Amino acid sequence: MLEKYGLGVAFTDAAGNRRYPPLLIARVPMSNRRVQIDPMRIGAWLSLIAVVIGSLAGIWWFASVGLSWFDVAMMVGGTVFINLGVTIAYHRYFTHTSFEAKPWVAVLLGVWGSMAMQGQIMTWVSVHRRHHRYCDTADDPHTPKSMGAGAKAMLDGFIDGYVGWTVSGRLCTYVDYVRDLRKNKTVQFVDRYYWLWVALGWIIPGFIGMAWYGTWAGYWSGLLAGGPMRAFLQLNSTGFVNTLGHLVGKRPFATKDDSTNSGIVNAVSLNGEHLHNNHHAIPWSASFAMFKGEFDPGFLVLRAMEKLGMVSKLKLPSEQFVARRSAHASITPEAAETTT
Ligand SMILES: [Zn+2]
Ligand SMILES: [Zn+2]
Repeated sequence: MLEKYGLGVAFTDAAGNRRYPPLLIARVPMSNRRVQIDPMRIGAWLSLIAVVIGSLAGIWWFASVGLSWFDVAMMVGGTVFINLGVTIAYHRYFTHTSFEAKPWVAVLLGVWGSMAMQGQIMTWVSVHRRHHRYCDTADDPHTPKSMGAGAKAMLDGFIDGYVGWTVSGRLCTYVDYVRDLRKNKTVQFVDRYYWLWVALGWIIPGFIGMAWYGTWAGYWSGLLAGGPMRAFLQLNSTGFVNTLGHLVGKRPFATKDDSTNSGIVNAVSLNGEHLHNNHHAIPWSASFAMFKGEFDPGFLVLRAMEKLGMVSKLKLPSEQFVARRSAHASITPEAAETTT
């Protein structure tokens, strides 16, 4: 039926990876040429455009009504809050199952992560698991090392790893990487209403602004500062983790990839993701801090949630395991030596 009109769908990408949503294939009228339409690419472009236009509207708004410390707190505090959601919920819980959560907590974790506007759980998890498997190679969905050596290639690689990859067709659900989550009812529920959670991530700050200022104008201040302007800051901080976390900093573990522990990333993420080399070495650990003096805010919040009975069974490597892993790159991170 579809073929009759030159239409079709492809469930694999050019490299043969099974993906969702499928690519739509259409024949250009009056020619034999076919074009591929990637719904995810369109969604990613629309998301980025919404954030940029919303941020410009915010700059215009605050230039008119004035910017208070409360508005700045909504932007920066919102960025820290959502960054914690990305690392605790999407990264440590859904991707690496570093701890267990009560069912109602798992739903809240999914909503928390979704508000970052970085894709549904299934998409984020599958992309990140591919990142771990093929880290810093041509099959890695996002790496700053994709374009080779030389100043121009490094700059191109940086831009691609920072933001370009999200609109390149590499952002999709790689279905073979999320077999465990496909039948997970929590994930199905949260992903079904993904755009509702994204919208709430903008609307709720509006009501906080209205409560603070006691006016409708306060609603718009809260929405713009805690919505698009926060999203702009937060997505940039994720861009820094994905690029600088593979370019500059210390490498206490000789991992196969180029991951690093970076102080600069710490300054912009404030969620523990800066200990990126530690994480690539022992990805299942609930804590990314593994040596003396390292600070992981994401883990501190997890510990607090554990004290409140919300989460349990935090997987942590023993000191001896960390020492052996850092001395011998050949020990696989999957080796199960954990304490709870
Ligand atoms: Zn990485
Ligand atoms: Zn990871």
